[in-house]
Amino acid sequence: MQIGPHRFDARPLILAGPCAVEDERQLLEIAEAVREAGADVLRGGAFKPRTRPQDFQGLGREGVELLARAREESGLPIVTEALDEASLALVEAAADIVQVGARNMHNFSLLKQVGRSGKPVLLKRGFSAELDEWLHAAEYIEQGGASEVLLCERGIRTFSRHSRFTLDLSVIPVLQRRSRHPIVVDPSHATGEAASVAAMARAAVAAGADAVMIEVHADPDSALCDGVQALRPAELSTLIPELRDLAERVAELTP
Ligand code: PEP
Ligand code: MN
Repeated sequence: MQIGPHRFDARPLILAGPCAVEDERQLLEIAEAVREAGADVLRGGAFKPRTRPQDFQGLGREGVELLARAREESGLPIVTEALDEASLALVEAAADIVQVGARNMHNFSLLKQVGRSGKPVLLKRGFSAELDEWLHAAEYIEQGGASEVLLCERGIRTFSRHSRFTLDLSVIPVLQRRSRHPIVVDPSHATGEAASVAAMARAAVAAGADAVMIEVHADPDSALCDGVQALRPAELSTLIPELRDLAERVAELTP
């Protein structure tokens, strides 16, 4: 897969890292751990869209600077979220892929502006967005001039209460027919619990996902954001070869 100037040969592409950049030590340690585990792209939020205003909102500018440092030290490209036009100015200068979060999928002015940055964009599906709304959001970004849009399924709201959201894997074959964009699946935010992440990552690859995005933390119990769903680096190291093996087998099957 080609994303901007970066070429990735292994399938699926693995984007991994902490929910939020917390401090220099935490980020550099996880960056090294996910690189060693075989991840292709480092994720980490500097600007966090939190449901409660009392919760950690991210390190902002300092977080972006730390991501740039981790990029340099690990050699991994980075994906991080732009929350609004002010954060986009900082994020677009440092990130290899700009993330638009689920809560901003309908923010048309941000979509246009992100498109104008020319950077590849990871567009998360809004958790109550229909497929057409998601694809139209991608068109807004493309019209702005973005080189590439990756579509990320991260779970939708249903009546189910056993998981944080419901991972809509049935969207994958439909997306494959309806769009040419690479498909990313985020089992971390969809399930909301670490114990379910590996199973749904495998299911995503079996269903044809091109990439999987996974939250990882060296010490999930002390994470400032989404610790309950974070895998430990050792768990990621086991999971990545399984996903790569699975992708090879899936590629041999009749489409
Ligand atoms: C994230 O990836 O950090 C995030 C906040 O995800 P979402 O927008 O899918 O909730
Ligand atoms: Mn998170």
